[in-house]
Amino acid sequence: MQVSGYLKLSIAVAVATIALKTGAWWFTGSVGLLADAMESVVNLAGAMFALAMVTVAAQPADDDHPFGHHKAEYFSSGFEGVLIFAAALAIIWAAVNRLLSPQPLEQLTLGLVLSVAASALNGALAWAMLKKARAHRSMALEADARHLFTDVWTSAGVVLGLLAVAATGWAWLDPVIAIAVAANVAREGFSLVRRSADGLMDRAVDPAVQQQIDAVLDGFAHPKTLRFDHVNTRRAGQRMFVDLHMHMPPNWSLQRAAALRTSVEQALMAAVPGLRATIQLLPMDVEARFDDAAERVL
Ligand SMILES: [Zn+2]
Repeated sequence: MQVSGYLKLSIAVAVATIALKTGAWWFTGSVGLLADAMESVVNLAGAMFALAMVTVAAQPADDDHPFGHHKAEYFSSGFEGVLIFAAALAIIWAAVNRLLSPQPLEQLTLGLVLSVAASALNGALAWAMLKKARAHRSMALEADARHLFTDVWTSAGVVLGLLAVAATGWAWLDPVIAIAVAANVAREGFSLVRRSADGLMDRAVDPAVQQQIDAVLDGFAHPKTLRFDHVNTRRAGQRMFVDLHMHMPPNWSLQRAAALRTSVEQALMAAVPGLRATIQLLPMDVEARFDDAAERVL
């Protein structure tokens, strides 16, 4: 199966687990199970925007979008992050109310059976994805699988908590579990929003990638004849961009300069997969300046 196949399967499994866990909440009235259902909504959102990424974001550049469509994913992930964060807050609100006026749980056995069935489905998918990820060395798929395993443990915690409620009659335990689960969901929603904002704000690439770029440039640089400066990077989805100056002796022919530029570009792209390099050629003693004076005043 292709990666997009696994994403579609993830979406189907997320919809099924949301239905099962929502049913579990409906029958029992447990806010803990409701919070657990929300956790599956995070997975649904994640799988949906991953699928958007491999379809919309992977569209080739066209006349209207000459740099490609890589930023498409940030719109969906940012929007979903806000929704998830808001829903988690709503669950915390409901759980605090429940804590103030506890309510006995109903049809607990049926609720727990539905919840365990949902977790079994999640666990099976996570296991299949982990096997596929190991075979293909896909870090993205492995991260998804690990996230799913975390959800299985969360659900197991909720189920154990509800069994403890049944054994002890401590109704307050259910909202306390709900608050813990919802706080984690809120954290995930917030991190989706932050990642999207980083992307839309043209955040620089990770320091590790920056170091790889610097190492390649250091390999070419020469104290007298070749200098690189004004190295700026940004990330757009799966794609990374770097632009920089290459300063060389003014008497070099354009042919020689262009050949060297091609070598530097190819070395950069070989060192960092997905990187696009734009290199401006300049004589040693001339600096290209942007007239940003107006912007500085603002
Ligand atoms: Zn320069």
